[in-house]
Amino acid sequence: NCKNADDVLKAVNDYNVSFLQFWFVDIMGNLKSFQILPSELEGAFEEGMGFDGSSILGFTRIEESDMVAFPDPTTFQLVAWRPTERPVARMFCSIRYPDGTPFVGDPRYVLKRVLDKAAAKGYTMYVGPELEFFLFTSPSDPRVLDLGGYFDAPPLDLGNDIRRDIIFSLTRMGIHVEYSHHEVAPSQHEIDLRYQEALKMADTAITYKVVIKETARKHGCYATFMPKPLFGENGSGMHTHQSLFKNGRNAFFDAGEKFNLSKDCRAYIAGLLKHAKEFCVLTNPIVNSYKRLVPGYEAPVYIAWANRNRSALIRVPMYKPGKEAATRIELRSPDPTCNPYLAFAAMLGAGLKGMEEGYELSTPVEENIFKMTEREMFDRGIDSLPGSLQEAISHFENSELMKEVLGEHMHAAYLEAKKAEWDEYRTHISEWELKRYLPTT
Ligand code: GLN
Ligand code: MG
Ligand code: MG
Ligand code: MG
Repeated sequence: NCKNADDVLKAVNDYNVSFLQFWFVDIMGNLKSFQILPSELEGAFEEGMGFDGSSILGFTRIEESDMVAFPDPTTFQLVAWRPTERPVARMFCSIRYPDGTPFVGDPRYVLKRVLDKAAAKGYTMYVGPELEFFLFTSPSDPRVLDLGGYFDAPPLDLGNDIRRDIIFSLTRMGIHVEYSHHEVAPSQHEIDLRYQEALKMADTAITYKVVIKETARKHGCYATFMPKPLFGENGSGMHTHQSLFKNGRNAFFDAGEKFNLSKDCRAYIAGLLKHAKEFCVLTNPIVNSYKRLVPGYEAPVYIAWANRNRSALIRVPMYKPGKEAATRIELRSPDPTCNPYLAFAAMLGAGLKGMEEGYELSTPVEENIFKMTEREMFDRGIDSLPGSLQEAISHFENSELMKEVLGEHMHAAYLEAKKAEWDEYRTHISEWELKRYLPTT
């Protein structure tokens, strides 16, 4: 647990580290990494390490491509999937312009800025995501490894050896795992992490994905976080539990209020509901994300909140006496292809907006919304999430709040990338179309 550059230099020496990986993500949350030798480390802490930003998605234009990566010593960690002899270590980096100012297209910086805004009001955000994933034989020939379902044990669950190795690796990297299980769909799994402060959790989510992918590869299979890889089966979500703490206490808990939810918490939920469509492209970023957000597969479609109901977008887990620190809300729309830095920034931004403006929270919807008629939904004012990437893009494009939360640069860069993706998709002719239309037209 390093606190500063000196601690890192000492650890590198003590563990006889061979290489240091410098990590950061592009605007879509893809992990980028380069390696340096320990001899360069001291200089890297002082002056950073330069690289070509124009080759990173969403970073800079060719005319202003010099970027500098500064390692964050508090993120120093030995990499669990590399050899233990002469180990490799990694640190997450902050990206800056050559003049030292923070780069506005760095997702980590975008999250930090929103967290600082919350901190100025005394709030710390805690996050607990549930990232689901599938194990397949290979990406080019995606066959499932087992036909297990929810909580199935071996021999129906054939992923348990892989999950076991994943958990050992996560633990070695200082990540606290709470539990793991086979998920609803064949060959689908979930490993749940103990909640953490938001920036740390975004870093952790990135690490979690690499650990899972690398461990699966060692076992000769392929792990994917694609939201809906199998037609007719549940998709993979990233339910995101969140809470705010103030002065060491859970600011979402108030014993005197309805459902034990504080005024802050109710306004926060109202903020998420009101802006859900605007941040959807951040929590559900790809074409395939919208094939998961359909009725019938435990994924949300309608914008409502509930105490227990899992068909709602936001669920508030029931309060257990004495567990006020655990008071939290669960947003069920995100999927694990999101950039966790931007997704957390957007959620917090929407929640804070609700608190600042004192949004009123609608009544919870405890009935199964999937069974309601359109008329009933209309009467109760229940709206739906965007039905496609294109719809999500246009809500995001017109969102003043998202512009403010992400900053102009990030908002524009993200928009441009997503529009290009949608254009690529919409001009493509799918197998479904050929099968459906060619013989009849
Ligand atoms: N896989 C479901 C989803 O897409 C969630 C299932 C569950 O965790 N109960 O969100
Ligand atoms: Mg779960
Ligand atoms: Mg689950
Ligand atoms: Mg859940």
